[in-house]
Amino acid sequence: MAKKQFKAESKRLLDIMINSIYTHKEIFLRELISNASDAIDKLCYISLTEGGVGLSRSDFKIHILRDREARTLTVSDNGIGMTKEELENNLGVIAHSGSLKFKREMDKAVEDDDIDIIGQFGVGFYSAFMVSDRVTVISRAHGQDKAYKWESAGADGYTITECERTGVGTDVIMHLKPDTEEESYSEFLETWRLRELIKKYSDYIRWPILMEVEKTEARETDEKDENGKPGMEYVTVTEEQVINSMVPIWQRSRTEVTDEDCIAFYREKFRDSADPVAVIRVNAEGLVSYRALLFIPEMAPYDYYTRDYKPGLELYSSGVLIMEKCADLIPDCFRFVRGVVDSPDLSLNISRELLQHDRQLKVIASNLEKKIKAELSKLMEEKRDRYEVFYKSFGLQLKYGVVADFGMKKELLQDLLLFVSSREEKFVSLGEYTEKMPEEQKYIYYACGETVRRAASLPQTERVRSAGYDILYLTDDVDEFVIQTLRKYNDKEFCNVTADDLGLESEEERADAEKKQAEARELLDFVKESLDGQVVDVRLSRKLKSHPVCLTTDGEITLEMEKYFRNMPGAEGDAIKARRVLELNGEHPAFESLKRAFENDRERAAKLSRILLAQAMLIADIPLEDPSEYTELVCGLF
Ligand code: ADP
Repeated sequence: MAKKQFKAESKRLLDIMINSIYTHKEIFLRELISNASDAIDKLCYISLTEGGVGLSRSDFKIHILRDREARTLTVSDNGIGMTKEELENNLGVIAHSGSLKFKREMDKAVEDDDIDIIGQFGVGFYSAFMVSDRVTVISRAHGQDKAYKWESAGADGYTITECERTGVGTDVIMHLKPDTEEESYSEFLETWRLRELIKKYSDYIRWPILMEVEKTEARETDEKDENGKPGMEYVTVTEEQVINSMVPIWQRSRTEVTDEDCIAFYREKFRDSADPVAVIRVNAEGLVSYRALLFIPEMAPYDYYTRDYKPGLELYSSGVLIMEKCADLIPDCFRFVRGVVDSPDLSLNISRELLQHDRQLKVIASNLEKKIKAELSKLMEEKRDRYEVFYKSFGLQLKYGVVADFGMKKELLQDLLLFVSSREEKFVSLGEYTEKMPEEQKYIYYACGETVRRAASLPQTERVRSAGYDILYLTDDVDEFVIQTLRKYNDKEFCNVTADDLGLESEEERADAEKKQAEARELLDFVKESLDGQVVDVRLSRKLKSHPVCLTTDGEITLEMEKYFRNMPGAEGDAIKARRVLELNGEHPAFESLKRAFENDRERAAKLSRILLAQAMLIADIPLEDPSEYTELVCGLF
């Protein structure tokens, strides 16, 4: 029979499994039981919605079978099973979430020498190879008469052949490795060891996990003693027992289940190597009764900000899984939240389309939204460092949430935002910023730049800082859109430090500035003309202190937005442009020089104008169209 080869990725994963260190091996059982439970969930759902399965809810079971002589351990389920193609695709390729994620983390861990990672989260079916030198999978899929046998002894490939199986389901048969001096694989055939593992890792599995266990029983013998009493003998009998307690963790009360238990459940179920920053437990009664166990992760999954990421909570109706990722249960702005919702009030027979419009779901979703918001606010108040860790992963998501749907969720989200403050040199919330505003401060000031350093070095920040006011540094592309959507916070308007009117001048100062501007009009017009339409205006600046020039804009489109549009795929030449304005510092020696040139040598004045514009652009982080012309101009001054 021809052997098929594993794909390269799978091979590497198998190697890791086969050679993993002993203390981690025990998790293989948890992985296989979890797969069995998922398979039963799927078939149970079909039986309740479509029917024709021939099993009722109480018929679903997971069996742990042992054959000491053959040294095999089998995990058997009567779940949905796998077709030939599914055996091939699911077990021959590591394209599956758990295993793929594991591999990525593993590659990282090998680099960092942190091999402990195996024990930390789900590694999937391949973990069977940690304890077996051969694995046989016999499976019959729901709706199929034929069963298939998948078999592999590890890295050298696998075979698939037709075989028999009574009933639908899957058996994973592990041929345990021989014992070595350090490692006893025989232990995985012992009742005490298996019981311990099931209790430790799989106690909350909702389906019964059955195992034959030996029991000593006292029995009467035929022989009688001198008093005529029958003699006793002790015999070992076997009996099938349910090993797990079967009550899902979210159905248990706070007194029974600690937050640590929930965290362990999270890491295992959602395959995260980091603890969540918050655990939310809800036990709601009322219009719709439900229980929810939610988690706010610390890290964004690698695909979080891509289309591949599928948000949603697991939805159960009295312990039966209805939907793996029900996106309608959480608003998009909180799509990073993971967890489960279980409500006895939901009917199973809702089709997936109808489910979307279900009023009950809306009630749950709107409750959860409030709970998540409250939990995040609490985290921000009470565990700021953890909140900031979270914010680094998901702050961008919150900002997108503010902007989405014309700001529908801005009220919900605005207090969860953080920006770097120029004064505090750390993250502050808008509430914290406005609280510390001096009474006369009119606006909430902000400056945009690729990095905090760039934003902080904008010449325009000087004026605001010298007035003693704090500035928020905005470094994400979406930030300016956030500000435009919010418009105000606590009745205070936002003001870009590059704005024309910073609200800092007295009446006299304003009149004085206008007078000076009028006096310099001829020179300013000359500069504008020398710049060949690159700017819409040239002005004497009211905000510059030590810098000679800066670039600002007229109208809605700012330079940051222009950069954003320019970087959009397919933008090229026709991207939206800001109306640029060149501001000159009338108090700077450079301006004096320019003035003198304007009076004595117009050609030189035109060159100086072009140099000043180039400098303003460089400071604003806008690339020069012709850097060599600029260099020539500068060198021409020597
Ligand atoms: P994961 O569980 O992360 O997807 P696994 O490697 O454990 O990765 O399993 C791969 C896939 O094989 C599963 O997604 C599932 O479709 C299928 N599978 C595994 N075990 C079973 C089983 N006992 N019954 C039915 N399908 C199974």
